[in-house]
Amino acid sequence: MAMSEANAKPIVKFKTKAEHYVADACIVWCSDDRFYKLLKKFGKKQKFKNLDLVKIAGGAKALATPIDEPSAERDFVLNQLMTAVRLHGAKRIILMLHRDCGAYGGSENFINEYEEHTKLLGDLRIAREFVKKEMPALLVDAYLADFNGLYLAE
Ligand SMILES: [Zn+2]
Repeated sequence: MAMSEANAKPIVKFKTKAEHYVADACIVWCSDDRFYKLLKKFGKKQKFKNLDLVKIAGGAKALATPIDEPSAERDFVLNQLMTAVRLHGAKRIILMLHRDCGAYGGSENFINEYEEHTKLLGDLRIAREFVKKEMPALLVDAYLADFNGLYLAE
C-alpha cells in the first residue's frame, strides 16, 4: 500500500500475519474490560488459535430480544456473526453475558444474586435458541461470567 510521507514511519512497528485463517469460534462478548482477561484465559484453555470477536456492550443481550419485537441491535449482532462465519468459517458460536453488566443496569438493578443469575441464564437460553435457529449448522454455546469464573449455561 502506498503511504504518504507523514505515514511512512509506523507509530507501532508490528508484523501482522497476512495469511487468512479458519476461526476456532466466533464469540459475542461484553466490552466490559473487567472480563477481558477471563476471555483470554478461556481462549487459552480451549486452545483457540484464531477467534472472531464481536465485543459489544451487553455481550449476547441483544440476541435475547423477544423474536416478535423488531430490534436493529439484534439484526446488527446477527449480521456480525453471519459475516464472520462466512469469511472465516467458524463452526462454533460462543455467547456470553456477565454479572454486574451495565447493559442490565448492573447488579444493583436486581433484588439479589439469584434473581440476576436467573435473568442472565434465561437471556442466554433465548439468545442461544435464536442463534441456533438462524444458523442451524453451527454449535452454539452460552456462558455466564461472574467475578469467580466462567460457567456453561445449560
Ligand atoms: Zn457488560
